[in-house]
Amino acid sequence: MSQVATLRASSQPGACSAPEVLRERGQREVFCGLTGIIWLHRKIQDAFFLIVGSRTCAHLMQSAAGVMIFAEPRFGTAIIEERDLAGMADANDELDRVVARLLARRPDIKLLFLVGSCPSEVIKLDLSRAAQRLSRQFMPDVRVLNYSGSGIETTFTQGEDMCLAALAPELPPEAPDAEASLMLVGALADVVEDQFLRSFKALGIDRVSVLPPRRSTTLPAVGPNTRFLLCQPFLGETARLLEERGARRLAAPFPLGAEGTTAWLKAAADVWQVPEQRFREVTAPAQQRARLAIARYRDRLAGQRLFFFPDSQLEIPIARFLARELDMQLIEVGTPYLHRQHMAEELALLPEDVRLSEGQHVDNQIDRCRAARPDLTVCGLGLANPLEQEGLTTKWSIELVFTPIQGFEQAGDLAELFARPLVRRTRLEV
Ligand code: SF4
Repeated sequence: MSQVATLRASSQPGACSAPEVLRERGQREVFCGLTGIIWLHRKIQDAFFLIVGSRTCAHLMQSAAGVMIFAEPRFGTAIIEERDLAGMADANDELDRVVARLLARRPDIKLLFLVGSCPSEVIKLDLSRAAQRLSRQFMPDVRVLNYSGSGIETTFTQGEDMCLAALAPELPPEAPDAEASLMLVGALADVVEDQFLRSFKALGIDRVSVLPPRRSTTLPAVGPNTRFLLCQPFLGETARLLEERGARRLAAPFPLGAEGTTAWLKAAADVWQVPEQRFREVTAPAQQRARLAIARYRDRLAGQRLFFFPDSQLEIPIARFLARELDMQLIEVGTPYLHRQHMAEELALLPEDVRLSEGQHVDNQIDRCRAARPDLTVCGLGLANPLEQEGLTTKWSIELVFTPIQGFEQAGDLAELFARPLVRRTRLEV
């Protein structure tokens, strides 16, 4: 029986068009939130992510980030064995032992995340109490926090949201007389982060911080004079907690493509009352470079029909970019979760006839995808091979998270990610 319910998006704030939203509830085909550790451990350079999980969790992380075998890793798994599951051992004692051993061996660790998993939830291991206990023991040298990356509670990119939400209460309060400051929220590749910091400086916005910071000892301050821009569309809980601390979110599309990046920068420029002329001078050259880089792929992509399975929550901003800057045709755009407020500016830019789906019922979505026969299907790793075998061309959505795609300088790379599978398909046919 179909579990699809239809509602209209016209009641959403800021959505001037009224795309249909199918609400899907059924079997899911996405990674769990542990996956976020793969990019977060590179970002926060003095943090360690200790997954409290099973051998399955360890295998997932090892195969997804196998390169770490050659380095001193910044994540690991405390394996929950059968005797823990059977209640024959005190998992808390074992966890304390593992943490003490780890921190004695690695004095470079200043922030330790205990990351919950399906098994730790099943045995109801209270990681928040464990984190408090261990923090008392190891502060001020090491701060210990916890969040859940379990497949029961989180999908894929939600792991980052949970991690940053764990950091939000730890941010120091801003001084009562603090000048207005801007916080960029969401992990970006360092090169992209540096580009944005340079752009804001050129616009005259000097007090800019980032969350997560590269070192946990430099957590940015937050308070009523903080404005923040989301760099990623999957940070609903983090944004809520920052707002609870008095910060205010600047509503904007996400910085993907020339149009999205311009609007994202402009949202801050308007609040800081940057003169129009200065904004144009700072952004026009990079905007022009981005448009030229994108144009190289327009012939290949224009008119191609596109289907997004829900995976990373990046789907809507990327679909907007592909439709508006590359003239691709959107058949369906699926997202695991639709945050109506954070997406309002994006929804307003989507073509009116696009079908949006929220949540996942993988069988229904596969049926619709087969019926539509799109030119390109964006989906998770597990679906890609079977769909390729059926003659559909696919793009792995995980690449969109691992590749630097935000900002003007990366706009051409983002377009190329979608052109590549089509070029490969053409070559194979030849
Ligand atoms: Fe699998 Fe759950 Fe571990 Fe993720 S947290 S790898 S879904 S067992």
